[in-house]
Amino acid sequence: SLSGDSLSLSPEQVILNELESNHAGEWLQKYTDEPSLTGTAKNLADWTKLKFEEYGASASIDTYEVYLSFPHEHDLSLLDSKTNETLYKAPLEEDELSVDPASFKNNTVPTFLGYAANGNVTAEYVYVNYGTKNDFEELKKLGVDVNGKIAIARYGAIFRGLKVKFAQDNGAIGVLLYSDPGDDHGITPANGYKQYPEGPARNDGSVQRGSAQFLGGLGATPGDPTTPGYPSQGDDIKRSDPHQSTGKIPVLPISYREIKPILAKLNGKGAKSPKKWVGELEGYDYSIGPNPKVQLNLYNNQIYNITPIWNVYGEFEGESKDEVILIGNHRDAWVTGASDPHSGSAVLIEVARALGKLKESGYKFKRTIRLASWDGEEQGLLGLTEAGENFSKEFQSKVIAYLNLDSSVSGQHLKLSASPVLNKILKKIASNLLYPKESVGTLLDHFNQETGGKITNLGSGSDYTVFLEHLGIPSVDLGFGQGKGDPIYQYHSSYDSYYWISKFADPGFVYHNLAAKYLSLLIFELNNHEVIEFGLKDYSSDLYNYFNESVDLIPKSWFNEKIDTPNVDENEFFIDEISQGYYFNLIMTHGCHNKVGAMHHHKNKTLSYLVDNIYQDLNKLYNTTAEFDLKGESLQSEYNNRNNLHWWQKIKLHFEIKHHNKLLQYYERNFLYHKGLDGREWFKHIVFASGRYTGYAGQTWPGLREAIEDGDFERLVKWLTIVSKTLKRVETALF
Ligand code: GLU
Ligand code: CA
Ligand code: ZN
Ligand code: ZN
Repeated sequence: SLSGDSLSLSPEQVILNELESNHAGEWLQKYTDEPSLTGTAKNLADWTKLKFEEYGASASIDTYEVYLSFPHEHDLSLLDSKTNETLYKAPLEEDELSVDPASFKNNTVPTFLGYAANGNVTAEYVYVNYGTKNDFEELKKLGVDVNGKIAIARYGAIFRGLKVKFAQDNGAIGVLLYSDPGDDHGITPANGYKQYPEGPARNDGSVQRGSAQFLGGLGATPGDPTTPGYPSQGDDIKRSDPHQSTGKIPVLPISYREIKPILAKLNGKGAKSPKKWVGELEGYDYSIGPNPKVQLNLYNNQIYNITPIWNVYGEFEGESKDEVILIGNHRDAWVTGASDPHSGSAVLIEVARALGKLKESGYKFKRTIRLASWDGEEQGLLGLTEAGENFSKEFQSKVIAYLNLDSSVSGQHLKLSASPVLNKILKKIASNLLYPKESVGTLLDHFNQETGGKITNLGSGSDYTVFLEHLGIPSVDLGFGQGKGDPIYQYHSSYDSYYWISKFADPGFVYHNLAAKYLSLLIFELNNHEVIEFGLKDYSSDLYNYFNESVDLIPKSWFNEKIDTPNVDENEFFIDEISQGYYFNLIMTHGCHNKVGAMHHHKNKTLSYLVDNIYQDLNKLYNTTAEFDLKGESLQSEYNNRNNLHWWQKIKLHFEIKHHNKLLQYYERNFLYHKGLDGREWFKHIVFASGRYTGYAGQTWPGLREAIEDGDFERLVKWLTIVSKTLKRVETALF
């Protein structure tokens, strides 16, 4: 009978069967019914909690009181310098589109940037390309003085808040950020594509909102800028000056239609842009300016206050409460946020539904699965960072992996960034699912065709940052993003709407459904495999490759320089207490404390000696981790055949697997350095960090890279020593 069949379904089949029906569109409609700006839409927090409960998870809401800014007034006028007459006033508004209710005035959120400072400035203005650190250096070389001017930067290349930081550092008194059609990958009206809502091109009036926080920048920390490193919760929250992480000059975002008359005034004025700076804004020749005949008046007035934000948690308790698999997505948006974040919100609910069905079918989770719907990501990773600071010990001791959704679907191309321990399982599960377009093959085939199979390293710009880079917890960021042929992603504009996603990005919600299947199976597998399915060998080969890339950047003349290795106290750097506690017990019980790596004090050795030494460490680590992975596989197959074992062999196996799993669970924690990176100590991971000048893009072996970039030999030696010690310690702790 049918019910007999369903009784014999494997857990994976239960999940996939449940997801044969697709409710993502329904949830998406609910989430995008109104704007969900950070700290508003409490009803969506409550609704999410109810949904978690409906599917059998226990749920709760975790509140933080954070410093936030809300839009109030703004103004931008082009003035005649002599007469002060207004030549043009930018409306600073997106158009209402009759087909797209998310764009209706009574429904939308004004165009603004979170944490942009209040101010009213009038000055000449210049074009600064993407506003990167290099761009400002280039301007100096071109003889352009940014001091006292308003800087106009196009979006792209780096995180927007760092553009503001570099502009401010260079003396600018205000900033405008606009989206240039030159960054739309050819999907432009000039190439015959119609604009949204008629076609896939960007609407020329659309505006990218976003946070102007100094994400990843020197001195800055993610999270509530007034509580760096500790939670915004409790009775007497101590608050510090937010300006370590936020700017002091006013900033406004603007559409390319509205910036055009302003930039056109620079035609033929000042220095010419280098070739690479030239975008595709029609009617502007990309002269840098200024034009002394005109000025801009930029006015920004936001309301700053302390506001509650709400994280929602759901939990399916497993046999082990000390091993947690966490999946999360943020719930706050700039307007209705259909892709960012609610494609992820919808997928998260679908995952909860599938896991709920599995529970209902009688399956017992081995590990505990937690679902999280974070608030305040958009403003500066607030909700998760505050939770990460609040529960750091618990997270570090329990969480096996963090799966981050964010925009689950903004296009149809699978994007994977992860800690390398997860590469193996990410690929394995992708090979079990079909890609929706015929003839492509599996999801893995699609990924391999599009990316050459390369899973990239994590930087920042979403919620995994605190987990990986502050707490040392393996993380993955995954979703379907824009690739060749996909429509322009209406990122952070009113047009990132239900209408847009259902008409352009994902008609039928096919990719939402695939994301839900992929994540549910990933969670299931991470939970069900007796030996945690991490691949340490993959980590080693990435460490090796990234090290190689760093060494290539060391000036050749440095290799023969003599070094004096700094005396480093083992305790003051490395490792969180939890994993150290575990290793410590291990060492005591096995009586092999002399195995923990120590590096000899080197005098009169050269830098190449130290570098060669690390290559040897890396080789050794590769071999040891390869062996360790094999050991894991054989433990798993012994476990699979455990029915053939004697009771005492079963007990022995149980403890062997437990030990092996602890080493896997805490492996990534080994790469934490308590003192943190130079100039931004909140970032503790010595292999993965967001770039200090990029924000989004990741930096590998950041201590080494930054010392080389800064031409600082002593610091390079310090970091090489840290790396060497880490590698030795990690290697000896594995068996
Ligand atoms: N995802 C957000 C953005 O890219 C992150 C904001 C932040 O980290 O400050 O705007
Ligand atoms: Ca904090
Ligand atoms: Zn966003
Ligand atoms: Zn997002």
